[in-house]
Amino acid sequence: MVFKLCLCITNYKLTSKNILIFFSYRLYNFTSSSGVNMVGQSLYKSLKNLVSIDKELNETISKIEKTKTIIEKDQIQIPLLEKEIEESEKEYLNQKKNLDLLELDAKSLKEKENTLKNRLENIQNPKEYKALEKELKSLELKILEQENELVNSWHKLESQEKTLNEIKKDNLEKIKQLKESIEHQEKALKDQNEAEKNLKVKREKALKDIPLDWLNSYERMRHKVVDPIVPVIDSVCSACYYKVLRQDLTKLKQAGVLLCRNCYRFLYYDFEEEKDEKKESF
Ligand SMILES: [Zn+2]
Repeated sequence: MVFKLCLCITNYKLTSKNILIFFSYRLYNFTSSSGVNMVGQSLYKSLKNLVSIDKELNETISKIEKTKTIIEKDQIQIPLLEKEIEESEKEYLNQKKNLDLLELDAKSLKEKENTLKNRLENIQNPKEYKALEKELKSLELKILEQENELVNSWHKLESQEKTLNEIKKDNLEKIKQLKESIEHQEKALKDQNEAEKNLKVKREKALKDIPLDWLNSYERMRHKVVDPIVPVIDSVCSACYYKVLRQDLTKLKQAGVLLCRNCYRFLYYDFEEEKDEKKESF
């Protein structure tokens, strides 16, 4: 009988409805030929097990992605903070260089002033004296302006030094925290990668407990919905609330798994779970 049915189905156009009929027949044969309800029950448990592994696997993969993003963001921050310190140091050094030049200028102006003063003391000619005196006054004015510039430059350097120290302190602290965070995230990533590896091994093992056509159907469904396998509660599919026909419910109780005629999710029947769900709703 199974063979005949399979032949019929091969020549049949595979619509969703037909797939449903196909699986219903499969279940019927599955249970009736073996005569043991345990087979169906263990099939739905295997499917549930696969769903829970896949759920955990998806969560782990999404955790891995998140951890990688955090690490990348932290890694980008470090050179930016270092560059900020570098630029502030450069500004400070330029300011210092500028001040050194001003100090040199001031020194040479002072020397020039002293020379002029000495010459002025030894001049006899009144005309020459007046000219030199004029030159000295102009030089003194220049020295005064230069001293003002020097004071401003000193203030700028002090403020630049303060800014540099603050940036250095803040950024070095941030870099330290970022490095600690990266180290922590890398450890977490290692664990998550290990968990992913283990789950994949677990999944491979779980696949062996499920017939290939059920598996294909499950794979198609799991890309469409987050809950490809749901319980029947109060005789309805707990995802789409479609009422399960009485004959399907009987089959389901015998076989353990059935496809919902409306949403095509896998339906299972669990006496314990239904009891719990009812308790929760009260
Ligand atoms: Zn449904």
